[in-house]
This record gives sequence, C-alpha cells and structure tokens, in this order.
Amino acid sequence: MRKIGLLGGTFDPVHFGHLRLAEQCQQKLDLEEIWFIPAAHPPHKDWKISPYEKRRKWLAQALEGNNTYRILDIEQEREGKSYTVHTLKALHKAEPDCEFYFLTGADSLTYLDHWHHWEEILDLCHFVATTRPGYGSSIPERLQKEAKQHKDGILCLEIDALNISSTEVRKQIALQHDISQLVPEKIIDEVKHSMEIKVEGYKELLKTRLSVKRYTHSVGVANTAAKLAGMFNGNIAQAYLAGLLHDYAREVPNSELLELAVEHNLVQDSVELLQPNLLHGAVGAWMLQEQGIVEDEAVLNAIRWHTTGHPDMDQLARIIYIADYIEPERKFPGVEALRTIAHRDLDLGVLAGLDHTISFLIQKNGFLHPLSVAARNRLLEEKIEDRHGN
Ligand code: FE
Ligand code: FE
Repeated sequence: MRKIGLLGGTFDPVHFGHLRLAEQCQQKLDLEEIWFIPAAHPPHKDWKISPYEKRRKWLAQALEGNNTYRILDIEQEREGKSYTVHTLKALHKAEPDCEFYFLTGADSLTYLDHWHHWEEILDLCHFVATTRPGYGSSIPERLQKEAKQHKDGILCLEIDALNISSTEVRKQIALQHDISQLVPEKIIDEVKHSMEIKVEGYKELLKTRLSVKRYTHSVGVANTAAKLAGMFNGNIAQAYLAGLLHDYAREVPNSELLELAVEHNLVQDSVELLQPNLLHGAVGAWMLQEQGIVEDEAVLNAIRWHTTGHPDMDQLARIIYIADYIEPERKFPGVEALRTIAHRDLDLGVLAGLDHTISFLIQKNGFLHPLSVAARNRLLEEKIEDRHGN
C-alpha cells in the first residue's frame, strides 16, 4: 500500500503553516506523497472566500518544485458542499492501493463531532491531529474516547508547527504589515492585491476595533452601499469598502477623538468640540490614510463626511451617507419610507436623511452642524437646476 497524506483546507491563502505541517507529517509518518485538497464550497465558512481558481493557483505556485506534492480538484468537481466524508469515500474507490492519512491541526478539532458523518471519516483513514510541542492535545477527552471505537481513533502527532492562520495573514495584509514570514515570496504580490483577501482582512481588523453590534452594522452598511452602487451605476467594490470602514473610529473615546482632531486640524466647526462624537468620520478617514490602509480619496471623503454630510459629497459619499441610515439593522420609525425614497432616487434619499437628522436635532434642542445645512441646501439647489434644465 502507498502511504498518502491528505491535507484539505480553503487555502485562502496558503501559508507557511500549511507547508510546515505537510513537510513535518511527511517526514514523521513516512508518507510517499501529500495530496492537497482545496475546499470548493466549505460548509463551515460563512465569509466570502476567494474564487477557487485563485486559491488553487496560489497553492500550485507555493508547491512548485516538490514532486511528492499534488493538488486534487476532487471537491471542485463535485457539486454541493465540500464534505470530507464524501471526498474520502471517492478517494477510496478511485485509489484502492492507497492508505490515507488525513492531516489536521488539533486546534481545528474542537467541533469534530459536528463534522458530517465524522465517525465514518475515522473509519476511512488514519486521522492525524498535529499538535505543537508543549501544547498537549486540545482534543476533548469525550471525543477521543468515542473516536477510539473507530479504526485507530485520532492519532496525535507532535510537530514543530508554525502558529499561522489564513485569518491572521488577511489581517496583516489589511494592516499593510510585512507578510514575508507568513506566505511564500512568489505569491505575496498577488495575494496582497486580491480584493477578497483585502476585504476579509478589513473585516478581521474591524472585529478587533468594534463591538459585535457595530461590526454587524458596518457589514450592513457595506452590503447596502454595494446594492445602491449597483442600482445607480456606481463602483460596487468601492462602495462596499467605504461602507465597511465608515465607522472605523466610531469606538475611539471622545477625548481621544478630540485630541487627534485638534492635533491634525480635522475640526471643521465648533459644534464638533461640543460633540466630539461627530468627529469619528474625520478621525476615521485620517487614521485609515495615516495607517496606509486606504488611499482612495473618494473612499476617504465618503468616510470623512458620513456623520454630518457635506455640500461636496459625490455619488459615493451620498451612497455611504444614506446606506448608514437605511442598512437592515436600522429600525427607527420612518426607515421604511426612507428606504423606498433612496431606492428610487439616491439624491432625494440623502435629502430625506438630512431632513430627518435636522428635524430630530431641532426637536431635541440640539446643535445643527453647518455642513449638514450646507449639504441640504446644495441638494435643493441641484433639484431646482434639474427642474430648469428639463
Ligand atoms: Fe458613523
Ligand atoms: Fe454608521
């Protein structure tokens, strides 16, 4: 029998952690070959992953030069979700002279008993859980006990593993950090500029800055903005990005917002000194630019002006302003009407949003921001010009 290691994963992107795991398992278990199996439709991932072809290409580049490594497209060729049990069954049938070692990291096994037909998986292969030296096995005892009733159960293998995850790689890319210690040199450039990787990286970054509620709101604004951009011939990716990052500084404490705004000349009106919370747009844009995360001036303006509005708002800024108002989590009275208007006419939607804010502030005796008034006046002017033009 040929001893074959199987390493499945989304590989979004492939990194040195995967390669180290393959290399060490091959050595320690004396495996003739390692077959890498990119998941086409992973059942447990709810985020949007990079297209299969992209992930596969990176993997192929990373494995280049090692003729004991192969890539199997078995999950791509099969319809539906990528369940390990189906893959193992198919391989058994196709390669009767092979003995399979299914390679995983022990930390991914916490929910092994939720895997589709997990007991059957254990019967179909030697199931190998790799651990880092000194970390012991993180496999729950109950699981280990149950597993023992199937073939050789879960084999724990101590390897000199690297503590790298694709999630971490994406986050480091979003932060513009050096990733040469994380992924092979030859794929760095492509991975860094991949839209999906960047967007997912921004999400990881946001999760570390925002509460769950605000994070959900941000994703809601991103989706709404992308939808509006689609409806009004805007740039969908740009709208999604601006929506996602618009509240980047929303949970920075007021004292810090004020300090940063004063120090970097971001204050536009004295109202902001009385209500520093209004500064989270301007400070957020400044931080994103300063940290090298966003360079696109239109995206920065949209973020900068989303709290108050601004007379110079372009289409993108208008989209973000109103998307922030009408994203699915917003439940205030009148939001449905606002959605209807915005879907019919973007500018009228923004106008209605500004009206809503301004009347609310008047009702509760709050300060009006001059830029909100100026933005409203500009939109009215445009409407009058439109009417005369027609
Ligand atoms: Fe905001
Ligand atoms: Fe917001």
